[in-house]
Amino acid sequence: MSKINIIPIFVPHLGCPNDCVFCNQKKIAQASTDVDKSFVKDRIEEYLSYFKDKTNTEIAFYGGSFTAIDRDIQNSLLQVAKEYKEAGKVKSIRLSTRPDCIDEKILENLKDHLVDTIELGVQSLDEKVLELSKRGHNASCVYQASQMIKDFGFNLGLQQMLGLPGDSKESCYYTACEFKKIGPKFVRIYPSLVIKQTSMEKDYKAGKYKPISFDETIEISKELVKFYELNGIEVIRLGLQPTENIQLGKDVVAGPFHPSIRQFVDGEIFYDIIYNFLKDKNITKEEVTIFASNKNISNISGQKSAIKKRLINNLKLKNLRLTYKDLDENHLILSYKDKIEEIDIRKLIKTEIVCD
Ligand code: SF4
Repeated sequence: MSKINIIPIFVPHLGCPNDCVFCNQKKIAQASTDVDKSFVKDRIEEYLSYFKDKTNTEIAFYGGSFTAIDRDIQNSLLQVAKEYKEAGKVKSIRLSTRPDCIDEKILENLKDHLVDTIELGVQSLDEKVLELSKRGHNASCVYQASQMIKDFGFNLGLQQMLGLPGDSKESCYYTACEFKKIGPKFVRIYPSLVIKQTSMEKDYKAGKYKPISFDETIEISKELVKFYELNGIEVIRLGLQPTENIQLGKDVVAGPFHPSIRQFVDGEIFYDIIYNFLKDKNITKEEVTIFASNKNISNISGQKSAIKKRLINNLKLKNLRLTYKDLDENHLILSYKDKIEEIDIRKLIKTEIVCD
């Protein structure tokens, strides 16, 4: 299937009943209250003019709590999207909202407006983390909303955050296990950042909140990505949302800010697979060539060739060549000594997350 072309429409805090400790959307909303139907139409037209392949295009209402917005405003925005979908100019519509802003009437309205996918900003299923983050709802609300969304036939996406107040590796893993039970189609993972003008910023400055480190973020994210993929749940994003209006040094006060966290995580996953594969076969002090897709070559190489250098050093290889071959992303071919072996990386992925 062709790549989805997303038309992002950022709907700020409009109508959100809450004030989560990490969220600055009230601040953003003050600066941008101009999301109305003509804005939506202009945005769609603008993006459609960029896309060469228009066959798989999705309108995505990001940010805020879409279904908490006044119903007339919701419908005026959705109506524009619906007309584009009915005209065959876009293929699908998605939006994100809070778990406590879902009920049958809301879902019926979204069905009437031809919405396909609903993402819930869950962030954690640990009650303590939800409370300390001032999410304003408990975990059971998430299970109920998710079930309703699935029963209505929408695609369900769940968002998870790492490093919230009271969070730990164990509570992140617990949330992942609970997500598996819920069975979303996809997840997004966001490491918590301390953003200006949030309660988290105050707590950070008062020494009451310590952000998750970059290394912990990579370590936990690596296990989460492997876990979700092994369980058939796609991780469609790891890191920052491009529309979140977050810029290092401008809005981010502290936290594991990096625009390419996913590449770090994928690199670490490849490192483990290749290291263990060659180590198990006692391949050291050899010349090794790995044939892979372009995307995998860049993951195995890593930022500034860091992953490749670690493989060479830790396995004491004479050389490690990375060569393009027309392979899918689940396969690599390794050549060493007089052997050539094709490996299915999905069969070699192991995760330390164990669910009850
Ligand atoms: S529910 Fe979403 S929009 Fe509302 S305060 Fe929390 S993070 Fe921000």
